[in-house]
Amino acid sequence: MTILVTGGAGFIGSNFVRDWLSGPGEAVLNLDLLKYAGNLRNLDEVRNDERHVFVKGDISDRSLVDVLLRDHAVSAIVHFAAETHVDRSIQDPGVFVRTNILGTYSLLEAARHYCVSLDESSRARFRFLYVSTDEVYGPLKDADRPFDESCAYRPTSPYSATKASASHLVCAWFKTFGLPVLIANCSNSYGPFQFPEKLIPKVIVNALAEKPLPVYGDGRQIRDWLHVSDHCRALRAVLKRGNPGETYNIGGWNEQANIDVVRAICILLDEFRAPHIHHERLITRVTDRPGHDRRYALNTSRIERDLDWRPKYSFQAGLRATVRWYLDHPEWIASTQSS
Ligand code: NAD
Repeated sequence: MTILVTGGAGFIGSNFVRDWLSGPGEAVLNLDLLKYAGNLRNLDEVRNDERHVFVKGDISDRSLVDVLLRDHAVSAIVHFAAETHVDRSIQDPGVFVRTNILGTYSLLEAARHYCVSLDESSRARFRFLYVSTDEVYGPLKDADRPFDESCAYRPTSPYSATKASASHLVCAWFKTFGLPVLIANCSNSYGPFQFPEKLIPKVIVNALAEKPLPVYGDGRQIRDWLHVSDHCRALRAVLKRGNPGETYNIGGWNEQANIDVVRAICILLDEFRAPHIHHERLITRVTDRPGHDRRYALNTSRIERDLDWRPKYSFQAGLRATVRWYLDHPEWIASTQSS
Protein backbone atom coordinates (compact mmCIF):
# COMPACT_ATOMS: atom_id res chain seq x y z
CA MET A 1 0.00 0.00 0.00
CA THR A 2 1.11 3.50 -0.82
CA ILE A 3 -0.07 7.00 0.04
CA LEU A 4 0.29 9.78 -2.52
CA VAL A 5 1.60 12.98 -0.95
CA THR A 6 1.43 16.08 -3.14
CA GLY A 7 3.78 18.98 -2.39
CA GLY A 8 5.95 16.68 -0.30
CA ALA A 9 9.14 18.66 -1.01
CA GLY A 10 7.73 21.81 0.57
CA PHE A 11 7.74 22.81 4.23
CA ILE A 12 4.85 20.90 5.81
CA GLY A 13 4.78 18.18 3.15
CA SER A 14 8.43 17.22 3.69
CA ASN A 15 8.00 17.25 7.47
CA PHE A 16 4.97 14.98 6.99
CA VAL A 17 6.88 12.58 4.70
CA ARG A 18 9.86 12.29 7.05
CA ASP A 19 7.59 11.82 10.03
CA TRP A 20 5.44 9.24 8.23
CA LEU A 21 8.44 7.20 7.10
CA SER A 22 9.90 7.19 10.61
CA GLY A 23 7.03 4.83 11.46
CA PRO A 24 6.08 1.44 10.04
CA GLY A 25 3.21 2.62 7.77
CA GLU A 26 2.55 2.65 4.04
CA ALA A 27 5.11 3.67 1.40
CA VAL A 28 5.04 7.28 0.18
CA LEU A 29 4.75 8.40 -3.41
CA ASN A 30 5.78 12.04 -3.35
CA LEU A 31 4.57 14.24 -6.23
CA ASP A 32 6.02 17.74 -6.30
CA LEU A 33 6.74 20.17 -9.11
CA LEU A 34 9.73 21.61 -7.23
CA LYS A 35 8.71 25.22 -7.54
CA TYR A 36 10.69 27.83 -5.58
CA ALA A 37 9.57 26.49 -2.14
CA GLY A 38 10.07 22.84 -3.06
CA ASN A 39 13.54 21.61 -2.14
CA LEU A 40 14.89 18.07 -2.48
CA ARG A 41 17.29 18.77 0.39
CA ASN A 42 14.21 18.70 2.64
CA LEU A 43 14.06 14.99 1.83
CA ASP A 44 17.75 14.08 2.37
CA GLU A 45 16.84 12.04 5.43
CA VAL A 46 14.63 9.67 3.38
CA ARG A 47 16.81 9.58 0.26
CA ASN A 48 17.76 5.94 0.81
CA ASP A 49 14.42 4.79 2.14
CA GLU A 50 12.95 2.26 -0.28
CA ARG A 51 9.47 3.19 0.89
CA HIS A 52 9.87 6.69 -0.58
CA VAL A 53 9.47 7.40 -4.31
CA PHE A 54 9.84 10.97 -5.51
CA VAL A 55 8.24 12.10 -8.79
CA LYS A 56 8.77 15.57 -10.17
CA GLY A 57 5.43 16.52 -11.69
CA ASP A 58 2.36 18.71 -11.66
CA ILE A 59 -0.83 17.87 -9.77
CA SER A 60 -2.68 19.25 -12.82
CA ASP A 61 -1.09 16.67 -15.13
CA ARG A 62 -4.07 14.34 -15.24
CA SER A 63 -2.49 11.56 -17.29
CA LEU A 64 0.53 11.44 -14.95
CA VAL A 65 -1.66 11.35 -11.82
CA ASP A 66 -3.91 8.65 -13.33
CA VAL A 67 -0.90 6.43 -13.99
CA LEU A 68 0.62 7.06 -10.54
CA LEU A 69 -2.61 6.22 -8.72
CA ARG A 70 -3.06 2.99 -10.68
CA ASP A 71 0.54 1.76 -10.81
CA HIS A 72 1.21 2.36 -7.11
CA ALA A 73 -2.18 1.12 -5.87
CA VAL A 74 -2.59 4.32 -3.88
CA SER A 75 -4.75 3.98 -0.76
CA ALA A 76 -4.91 7.67 0.20
CA ILE A 77 -4.00 11.12 -1.10
CA VAL A 78 -2.64 13.78 1.25
CA HIS A 79 -2.85 16.98 -0.74
CA PHE A 80 -0.41 19.72 0.34
CA ALA A 81 0.71 21.07 -3.05
CA ALA A 82 -0.19 24.73 -3.38
CA GLU A 83 1.01 28.26 -3.85
CA THR A 84 1.15 29.44 -0.26
CA HIS A 85 2.49 32.95 0.20
CA VAL A 86 -0.11 35.72 0.61
CA ASP A 87 2.25 38.46 -0.67
CA ARG A 88 2.88 36.49 -3.88
CA SER A 89 -0.89 35.98 -4.28
CA ILE A 90 -1.31 39.75 -4.34
CA GLN A 91 1.43 40.17 -6.96
CA ASP A 92 0.33 37.25 -9.21
CA PRO A 93 -3.07 35.78 -8.32
CA GLY A 94 -3.33 33.79 -11.56
CA VAL A 95 -0.82 31.14 -10.54
CA PHE A 96 -2.76 30.67 -7.27
CA VAL A 97 -6.02 30.14 -9.17
CA ARG A 98 -4.33 27.64 -11.50
CA THR A 99 -2.52 25.64 -8.83
CA ASN A 100 -4.81 25.85 -5.83
CA ILE A 101 -8.21 25.68 -7.53
CA LEU A 102 -7.67 24.03 -10.92
CA GLY A 103 -4.90 21.77 -9.62
CA THR A 104 -7.13 20.54 -6.79
CA TYR A 105 -10.01 20.08 -9.23
CA SER A 106 -7.79 17.94 -11.47
CA LEU A 107 -6.63 15.85 -8.51
CA LEU A 108 -10.21 15.36 -7.28
CA GLU A 109 -11.26 14.15 -10.72
CA ALA A 110 -8.33 11.74 -10.88
CA ALA A 111 -9.20 10.45 -7.40
CA ARG A 112 -12.88 10.09 -8.28
CA HIS A 113 -12.20 7.99 -11.41
CA TYR A 114 -9.54 5.95 -9.64
CA CYS A 115 -11.88 5.27 -6.71
CA VAL A 116 -14.58 3.93 -9.03
CA SER A 117 -12.06 1.43 -10.42
CA LEU A 118 -11.28 -0.01 -6.97
CA ASP A 119 -12.87 -3.08 -5.46
CA GLU A 120 -15.34 -2.48 -2.66
CA SER A 121 -12.98 -2.90 0.30
CA SER A 122 -10.23 -0.73 -1.22
CA ARG A 123 -12.82 1.91 -2.08
CA ALA A 124 -14.13 1.87 1.51
CA ARG A 125 -10.58 2.47 2.81
CA PHE A 126 -9.59 5.18 0.31
CA ARG A 127 -9.21 8.76 1.64
CA PHE A 128 -8.54 12.19 0.11
CA LEU A 129 -7.15 14.57 2.74
CA TYR A 130 -7.11 18.22 1.72
CA VAL A 131 -4.65 20.30 3.76
CA SER A 132 -6.02 23.79 4.16
CA THR A 133 -5.73 26.84 6.34
CA ASP A 134 -7.47 28.91 9.03
CA GLU A 135 -7.25 31.84 6.60
CA VAL A 136 -10.34 30.53 4.75
CA TYR A 137 -12.49 31.83 7.65
CA GLY A 138 -11.25 35.40 7.17
CA PRO A 139 -10.36 37.83 9.96
CA LEU A 140 -11.65 38.00 13.54
CA LYS A 141 -12.06 41.07 15.71
CA ASP A 142 -10.21 41.18 19.03
CA ALA A 143 -13.24 40.18 21.13
CA ASP A 144 -14.59 37.50 18.71
CA ARG A 145 -14.59 33.83 19.64
CA PRO A 146 -12.20 31.59 17.66
CA PHE A 147 -13.65 29.94 14.54
CA ASP A 148 -15.10 26.47 14.80
CA GLU A 149 -15.82 24.18 11.86
CA SER A 150 -19.41 25.41 11.44
CA CYS A 151 -18.29 28.98 10.66
CA ALA A 152 -18.76 30.25 7.11
CA TYR A 153 -15.72 30.83 4.89
CA ARG A 154 -15.04 34.54 4.34
CA PRO A 155 -11.58 34.64 2.72
CA THR A 156 -10.07 38.03 1.95
CA SER A 157 -6.75 37.46 0.13
CA PRO A 158 -6.27 35.80 -3.27
CA TYR A 159 -4.41 33.00 -1.42
CA SER A 160 -7.18 32.31 1.11
CA ALA A 161 -9.88 32.71 -1.57
CA THR A 162 -8.24 30.00 -3.70
CA LYS A 163 -7.85 27.68 -0.68
CA ALA A 164 -11.52 28.24 0.25
CA SER A 165 -12.63 27.66 -3.37
CA ALA A 166 -10.76 24.37 -3.49
CA SER A 167 -12.31 23.42 -0.15
CA HIS A 168 -15.78 23.93 -1.61
CA LEU A 169 -14.84 21.65 -4.51
CA VAL A 170 -13.60 19.01 -2.07
CA CYS A 171 -16.93 19.15 -0.17
CA ALA A 172 -18.88 18.94 -3.44
CA TRP A 173 -16.92 15.84 -4.51
CA PHE A 174 -17.93 14.24 -1.21
CA LYS A 175 -21.64 15.15 -1.43
CA THR A 176 -22.09 14.60 -5.15
CA PHE A 177 -19.72 11.75 -5.96
CA GLY A 178 -19.21 10.14 -2.57
CA LEU A 179 -15.43 10.65 -2.66
CA PRO A 180 -14.29 10.00 0.95
CA VAL A 181 -12.67 13.36 1.65
CA LEU A 182 -11.32 14.96 4.81
CA ILE A 183 -10.44 18.65 5.27
CA ALA A 184 -7.90 20.00 7.76
CA ASN A 185 -7.85 23.76 8.42
CA CYS A 186 -4.66 24.56 10.26
CA SER A 187 -3.27 27.74 11.76
CA ASN A 188 0.23 29.11 11.06
CA SER A 189 2.79 26.32 11.15
CA TYR A 190 6.43 26.91 11.98
CA GLY A 191 9.49 24.73 12.36
CA PRO A 192 12.43 23.34 10.36
CA PHE A 193 12.60 23.48 6.54
CA GLN A 194 10.21 26.43 6.08
CA PHE A 195 11.11 28.54 3.08
CA PRO A 196 12.41 31.87 4.41
CA GLU A 197 9.69 34.08 2.98
CA LYS A 198 7.29 33.34 5.87
CA LEU A 199 7.57 35.38 9.06
CA ILE A 200 9.58 33.16 11.42
CA PRO A 201 12.29 31.84 9.04
CA LYS A 202 12.49 35.20 7.28
CA VAL A 203 13.24 37.00 10.52
CA ILE A 204 15.86 34.43 11.53
CA VAL A 205 17.56 34.38 8.13
CA ASN A 206 17.56 38.17 7.78
CA ALA A 207 18.90 38.59 11.32
CA LEU A 208 21.77 36.18 10.60
CA ALA A 209 22.66 38.32 7.57
CA GLU A 210 22.32 41.54 9.62
CA LYS A 211 19.50 42.63 7.29
CA PRO A 212 16.37 44.57 8.36
CA LEU A 213 13.59 42.54 10.00
CA PRO A 214 10.47 43.80 8.22
CA VAL A 215 7.32 44.14 10.32
CA TYR A 216 4.08 45.08 8.58
CA GLY A 217 2.31 48.21 9.93
CA ASP A 218 1.94 48.25 13.70
CA GLY A 219 2.86 44.56 13.98
CA ARG A 220 -0.26 43.87 16.04
CA GLN A 221 -1.69 41.32 13.56
CA ILE A 222 -2.53 38.23 15.58
CA ARG A 223 -1.92 34.67 14.41
CA ASP A 224 -2.27 31.29 16.08
CA TRP A 225 0.98 29.29 15.89
CA LEU A 226 1.49 25.53 15.81
CA HIS A 227 4.74 23.60 15.55
CA VAL A 228 4.89 21.63 12.30
CA SER A 229 5.42 18.30 14.08
CA ASP A 230 2.14 18.81 15.95
CA HIS A 231 0.47 19.69 12.63
CA CYS A 232 1.80 16.47 11.02
CA ARG A 233 0.65 14.35 13.95
CA ALA A 234 -2.82 15.91 13.67
CA LEU A 235 -2.93 15.16 9.94
CA ARG A 236 -2.01 11.52 10.61
CA ALA A 237 -4.86 11.30 13.12
CA VAL A 238 -7.33 12.88 10.68
CA LEU A 239 -6.23 10.55 7.89
CA LYS A 240 -6.43 7.39 9.99
CA ARG A 241 -9.43 8.10 12.21
CA GLY A 242 -11.24 11.12 10.74
CA ASN A 243 -14.82 10.88 9.62
CA PRO A 244 -15.19 11.18 5.80
CA GLY A 245 -16.85 14.44 4.81
CA GLU A 246 -15.69 16.13 8.03
CA THR A 247 -13.56 19.25 8.51
CA TYR A 248 -11.08 19.42 11.40
CA ASN A 249 -9.57 22.63 12.75
CA ILE A 250 -5.96 22.21 13.88
CA GLY A 251 -4.36 24.88 16.02
CA GLY A 252 -2.33 25.59 19.09
CA TRP A 253 -4.60 27.87 21.21
CA ASN A 254 -1.59 30.09 20.97
CA GLU A 255 -2.33 33.58 19.66
CA GLN A 256 0.60 35.92 19.24
CA ALA A 257 1.00 39.37 17.72
CA ASN A 258 3.57 39.39 14.91
CA ILE A 259 5.74 41.98 16.65
CA ASP A 260 5.88 39.80 19.78
CA VAL A 261 6.99 36.81 17.69
CA VAL A 262 9.73 38.91 16.08
CA ARG A 263 10.91 40.18 19.47
CA ALA A 264 10.93 36.64 20.89
CA ILE A 265 13.14 35.49 18.00
CA CYS A 266 15.49 38.43 18.59
CA ILE A 267 15.82 37.52 22.27
CA LEU A 268 16.65 33.90 21.38
CA LEU A 269 19.20 35.02 18.79
CA ASP A 270 20.78 37.39 21.35
CA GLU A 271 21.16 34.41 23.68
CA PHE A 272 22.40 31.90 21.08
CA ARG A 273 24.75 34.07 19.06
CA ALA A 274 26.69 36.37 21.34
CA PRO A 275 26.01 38.68 24.24
CA HIS A 276 27.06 41.76 22.29
CA ILE A 277 24.54 41.39 19.45
CA HIS A 278 21.24 43.19 19.99
CA HIS A 279 19.00 41.88 17.20
CA GLU A 280 15.95 44.06 17.96
CA ARG A 281 17.77 47.04 16.48
CA LEU A 282 17.20 45.42 13.06
CA ILE A 283 13.38 45.61 13.36
CA THR A 284 12.04 47.85 10.60
CA ARG A 285 8.41 48.89 10.13
CA VAL A 286 7.19 48.59 6.55
CA THR A 287 3.92 49.64 4.89
CA ASP A 288 1.16 47.20 5.77
CA ARG A 289 0.07 44.52 3.28
CA PRO A 290 -3.16 45.51 1.44
CA GLY A 291 -6.21 43.92 3.08
CA HIS A 292 -4.05 42.46 5.86
CA ASP A 293 -6.28 40.32 8.11
CA ARG A 294 -6.05 41.43 11.74
CA ARG A 295 -6.57 38.21 13.62
CA TYR A 296 -7.03 34.47 13.06
CA ALA A 297 -7.86 31.98 15.80
CA LEU A 298 -9.27 28.46 15.82
CA ASN A 299 -11.45 26.48 18.15
CA THR A 300 -9.94 23.00 17.98
CA SER A 301 -12.38 21.21 20.31
CA ARG A 302 -13.51 18.78 17.60
CA ILE A 303 -10.12 17.21 16.90
CA GLU A 304 -9.32 17.16 20.63
CA ARG A 305 -12.59 15.44 21.49
CA ASP A 306 -13.03 13.10 18.49
CA LEU A 307 -9.43 12.20 17.65
CA ASP A 308 -7.76 12.78 21.02
CA TRP A 309 -5.18 15.14 19.53
CA ARG A 310 -3.48 18.00 21.36
CA PRO A 311 -0.32 19.93 20.58
CA LYS A 312 2.81 18.75 22.41
CA TYR A 313 5.04 21.78 21.83
CA SER A 314 4.58 24.98 23.81
CA PHE A 315 5.30 28.01 21.64
CA GLN A 316 8.34 28.87 23.77
CA ALA A 317 9.88 25.42 23.35
CA GLY A 318 8.92 25.17 19.67
CA LEU A 319 10.32 28.59 18.81
CA ARG A 320 13.54 27.88 20.68
CA ALA A 321 14.04 24.58 18.83
CA THR A 322 13.23 26.27 15.52
CA VAL A 323 15.71 29.14 15.95
CA ARG A 324 18.36 26.59 16.96
CA TRP A 325 17.61 24.49 13.85
CA TYR A 326 18.14 27.43 11.47
CA LEU A 327 21.37 28.39 13.25
CA ASP A 328 22.59 24.80 12.86
CA HIS A 329 21.71 24.54 9.13
CA PRO A 330 23.45 27.36 7.24
CA GLU A 331 23.91 25.10 4.19
CA TRP A 332 20.14 24.55 4.01
CA ILE A 333 19.56 28.30 4.24
CA ALA A 334 22.08 28.82 1.42
CA SER A 335 20.18 26.30 -0.73
CA THR A 336 17.05 28.48 -0.48
CA GLN A 337 18.75 31.74 -1.40
CA SER A 338 19.00 31.09 -5.15
CA SER A 339 15.22 30.53 -5.46
P1 NAD B 1 5.23 25.36 0.67
O1 NAD B 1 5.04 26.57 -0.16
O2 NAD B 1 6.41 25.25 1.55
O3 NAD B 1 5.21 24.05 -0.27
C1 NAD B 1 4.32 23.90 -1.34
C2 NAD B 1 4.85 22.75 -2.20
O4 NAD B 1 3.92 22.53 -3.27
C3 NAD B 1 6.21 23.05 -2.84
O5 NAD B 1 7.10 21.98 -2.63
C4 NAD B 1 5.88 23.22 -4.33
O6 NAD B 1 6.95 22.82 -5.18
C5 NAD B 1 4.67 22.30 -4.46
N1 NAD B 1 3.83 22.64 -5.61
C6 NAD B 1 3.35 23.85 -5.94
N2 NAD B 1 2.61 23.75 -7.07
C7 NAD B 1 2.61 22.45 -7.43
C8 NAD B 1 2.02 21.72 -8.50
N3 NAD B 1 1.27 22.34 -9.43
N4 NAD B 1 2.21 20.39 -8.56
C9 NAD B 1 2.98 19.76 -7.64
N5 NAD B 1 3.58 20.39 -6.61
C10 NAD B 1 3.39 21.73 -6.51
O7 NAD B 1 3.86 25.22 1.49
P2 NAD B 1 3.59 24.72 2.98
O8 NAD B 1 3.75 25.86 3.90
O9 NAD B 1 4.33 23.47 3.20
O10 NAD B 1 2.02 24.42 2.88
C11 NAD B 1 1.56 23.15 2.45
C12 NAD B 1 0.04 23.15 2.47
O11 NAD B 1 -0.42 23.45 3.78
C13 NAD B 1 -0.58 24.21 1.55
O12 NAD B 1 -1.71 23.65 0.92
C14 NAD B 1 -0.98 25.32 2.50
O13 NAD B 1 -2.10 26.02 2.02
C15 NAD B 1 -1.32 24.54 3.75
N6 NAD B 1 -1.12 25.27 5.01
C16 NAD B 1 0.05 25.88 5.30
C17 NAD B 1 0.21 26.52 6.53
C18 NAD B 1 1.52 27.18 6.94
O14 NAD B 1 1.57 27.82 7.97
N7 NAD B 1 2.60 27.03 6.17
C19 NAD B 1 -0.84 26.55 7.44
C20 NAD B 1 -2.03 25.91 7.11
C21 NAD B 1 -2.16 25.27 5.89
